[in-house]
Amino acid sequence: LAEDLRALAKDPAATRDGHPVPVLANSGLLADIKPSLESGAEGVGLYRTEVPFMIRDRFPGEEEQVRLYEQILASFDPMPVTLRTLDIGGDKALPYFPVQEDNPFLGWRGIRISLDHPEIFLTQLRAMLRASREHDNLQILFPMISALDELKGAMTLLNRAREELLDEGYRIPMPKIGVMVEVPAAVYLAETLARRVDFLSVGTNDLVQYLLAVDRNNARVANLYDTLHPACIHALESITEGAHRAGKPVSVCGEMAADPAAVILLLGMGIDSLSVSVSAIPRIKWVIRSFSTDRAEALLAQCRLLENPEQTRSLLNNALVQAG
Ligand code: PEP
Ligand code: MG
Repeated sequence: LAEDLRALAKDPAATRDGHPVPVLANSGLLADIKPSLESGAEGVGLYRTEVPFMIRDRFPGEEEQVRLYEQILASFDPMPVTLRTLDIGGDKALPYFPVQEDNPFLGWRGIRISLDHPEIFLTQLRAMLRASREHDNLQILFPMISALDELKGAMTLLNRAREELLDEGYRIPMPKIGVMVEVPAAVYLAETLARRVDFLSVGTNDLVQYLLAVDRNNARVANLYDTLHPACIHALESITEGAHRAGKPVSVCGEMAADPAAVILLLGMGIDSLSVSVSAIPRIKWVIRSFSTDRAEALLAQCRLLENPEQTRSLLNNALVQAG
């Protein structure tokens, strides 16, 4: 099987009926580039830029960031590379930027920090745009968006960064822009947000935590954390429908996309792409190739009638066993 998976890794992922569902890589390290390419990644669906920030002892400057982002864009060109702007706060701290809060997951994190510190944000956006000078495969993703005004604020700064660079003589293509749907508010705003950007990307790690009120890192309540909870499935359907009503693609980049059972449901919803950690790419490509859209839709319809995650998982696991 391992051999089969490797042999299939290079081919693009598509359902049995030929509907392409690209599988991209989640990453945060340059060391991931080679293994991603070898595993058949069809681009980078989520590059967590806070990771390189976390392993330094000060904010990297614009030049340093340009060099970093350029390497990633160049390695995957012409495949898309989605650079997510800084997502610190929550459980991700920078040693040189301490944030002390009672409820960090409900506090100052992600886009909230970037909007409050335009100097940090503009430096990062300028670096991303400069890195894309010779590579037209940049996509920029904003984390933790919970209101339309945050997206507007981020776009204003992005446009300012781009105009500055154009004035300085750089020729910069306009990147594709995406919003992460990882806060329940964004589920209800999915269509509105999608109308203003090029794509949505669902961060199920946070979304499930916030929907179920279960800390994603707390072992004591880990048994309550389940992406197959009926509320999570319903939220995913609602996001996908909202994005598609706006005519925009939607991807899942949280761990749910690396769970073969959950992927069947996502295929049934018409998800447009998935982004997973490098080690999960071959297995998720296999799942996509093993199901037709019709079959995935039928399984999703059956799961909608189930009342708890255990029943859903057992039904989907049976389907996976049947698929081979
Ligand atoms: C998510 O929340 O699902 C996600 C992909 O982002 P992170 O895990 O970095 O919070
Ligand atoms: Mg997140």
